[in-house]
This record gives sequence, C-alpha cells and structure tokens, in this order.
Amino acid sequence: MALKSILIHPDPRLKSVADPVSASEVDKALRRLADDMLETMYDAPGIGLAAPQVGVGKRLLVMDCVKEENTPPRPMVLINPAVTWSSENLNTYEEGCLSIPEQYADVERPAEVEVIWIDLEGVTHTERFDGLWATCVQHEIDHLNGKLFIDYLKPLRRQIITRKMVKLKREQARA
Ligand code: ZN
Repeated sequence: MALKSILIHPDPRLKSVADPVSASEVDKALRRLADDMLETMYDAPGIGLAAPQVGVGKRLLVMDCVKEENTPPRPMVLINPAVTWSSENLNTYEEGCLSIPEQYADVERPAEVEVIWIDLEGVTHTERFDGLWATCVQHEIDHLNGKLFIDYLKPLRRQIITRKMVKLKREQARA
C-alpha cells in the first residue's frame, strides 16, 4: 500500500464530474487504489476520501465514520454510489475537507439518506445512513460531482477560504 498525495483546492480536478466505474474496471488495480485511499484517509487523518481528491476521476469513495473508541473500525469502499432517498429532516454539521485543510464551516444537509453502491466484489448494497455517516457520504458523493462543501457557503466566505488555500499552496510549492 502507498500513501497518495491529496489535491488541495483550488484545482480543476476537484471541480470535474467523475466518470462511472464500469464492471470490467472492478479489478485488482481498483482494489489497490481503494486500499491506498483508505490508508491515505486514516493517515491524514480523515473520515472520508473521494477518488478525485487523489487525482482519479472515477466514482469511488472510501469512508469510516466510527469515532467511539471501543468500536472496531468500519472501512467502507463505495463504487458508483448514488443517493436514492433523502429525509426532509435536516442536520447541521461543522464540516471540513482534506482538500481544504484546517477550514471548517456549518453545512446543512438531509439528516438521513439511503445510498446504493457496488463494492469491490461487484456486489450491490443499499444502506440508510444517519448522523455523521449521512453527512460524510453526502460530502463525498458531492466530490464525485465536482462539488465542495464551501460551495454551500456565502460567496464572500468561500472567497476568503479559497484565498487562504491559494496562499497555502504557494507556501507549499516554495518549501
Ligand atoms: Zn472533502
């Protein structure tokens, strides 16, 4: 396994709509990518990571929102995930993003969602998520559609964060 480098906003690859994964692409190379993404996510540390964030324009995401200390981890790999139902009930979470380091903001989303996806064996799953899992899976699916959590914020707030990221990237390039 290998750590991937995570793209930092602004980057055109974070704004592109990712391509569906075809059945023939669910192979060893995709499993390797999913493993690398999980390792990268845990290392960051983060609770979710979408393929576009590591420069791969495919509809694939990984997540693990277990935070209770005595609960075993639940690494999940979702291929071609899609929301099939959203609750009318909304929930606000302070969100962050590995592609927008150290910036956090409240985002309101459906409190519960039902998601369909296929796993690395090509098996279809449907599950209803709530709490942090619901927020995380919606945030990650947004990445597959070229959407970031700051796109939900007022333009001025978004500009301020984007300017900070431009500065951060300039500093990183110089280091
Ligand atoms: Zn993110």
